[in-house]
Amino acid sequence: MKPSSISNSSASLLDNFRNPEIARRLLGEIRSRETHATLMEVCGTHTMALFATGVRQGLPEHIHLASGPGCPVCVTPLESMESAIGLACRKDTVLFCFGDMLKVPGVSDTLESARANRGARVRIMYSPLDALEFARNEPRTDVVLFGVGFETTIPLFASVVQRAAAHRITNLYLLTAFKLIPPAVDALLSSGDIRIDGFILPGHVSSIIGEGAYSFIAERYHVPGVIAGFEAVDLLEGILLLLDMISRREPAIKNQYARFVSPRGNQRAQDLIASVFTECDSTWRGLGEIRNSGVRLTGEFSRFDADALIDFEIGAVSEPAGCSCGEVLAGKRTPTECALFRSACTPAHPVGPCMVSREGACAAHYYYGGR
Ligand code: SF4
Repeated sequence: MKPSSISNSSASLLDNFRNPEIARRLLGEIRSRETHATLMEVCGTHTMALFATGVRQGLPEHIHLASGPGCPVCVTPLESMESAIGLACRKDTVLFCFGDMLKVPGVSDTLESARANRGARVRIMYSPLDALEFARNEPRTDVVLFGVGFETTIPLFASVVQRAAAHRITNLYLLTAFKLIPPAVDALLSSGDIRIDGFILPGHVSSIIGEGAYSFIAERYHVPGVIAGFEAVDLLEGILLLLDMISRREPAIKNQYARFVSPRGNQRAQDLIASVFTECDSTWRGLGEIRNSGVRLTGEFSRFDADALIDFEIGAVSEPAGCSCGEVLAGKRTPTECALFRSACTPAHPVGPCMVSREGACAAHYYYGGR
């Protein structure tokens, strides 16, 4: 298929990015393939990049993209949100969080509404170091750091905990809601609930954990995966590599993003994580509890655990009526199939977490629309 047959909107979007000629050629090659496939982009940054570059809009109908559970804001469970809100409302306590977390719905409040209506003390941080600095300057205040993110973010929090220990800071606490990507992919595949023919694997997370962390996907489930970067050409190359493996029935894990991701990842970051945290079972919003898919503080660092400050009840939690975030995060539904999409649920008034972060699948569909 010649590049001229690529849809005008997709082609003009591709022109805004690096190497548009290469991108057009790759997209033309993908469109000439007849392989039918459902590919899951695990990472929320990929979800947004696929839309923003026009790659998603340019794919033929027989290649379907499903968004996965790789948006940290989206998978933070209601229980963690309730803990964060309760702690922020606690006397002489300040909670530090990333800005995205402010609008994530809890049971009846968000951190933002609790700040406006219940006197919760919430500060947006640009780095976890902000909380460390605050704790050092305000020794009579309990400072809670809301730890949300994947393998990419965890080392930064580990470093802050180590520094707090080294400086004998006793008023800093970590509320951990961290998640690990490979166990979530494993849980999706072992559930047998959806058919995924190939995975576009995260670029940033993989820079920490390396290619080897995904070998089980090809070996145990016979599904191929490609670690891809975030530029149009990266995404297109990644999709083409997947289509090749699918059509040849030769599943493997390939690394398109070798300029950033090494086979073994970042050993120093892995050691840092292991020195402060240990793996634990963890609940993912919409997906339920997944074995060894989170981390908790361990050894001498356990004293920084914010659970020790929780002196309030967290009652039964349930997702908002009509919200399909669980199915969206598992790739079983598209955001536009949710009855609340664009009606009751918008980025200004999100009902579920997938509409909050710009990396959430619902927000991506809202901003970019259509296919
Ligand atoms: Fe949840 Fe809103 Fe997405 Fe529906 S549109 S799945 S309510 S975030």
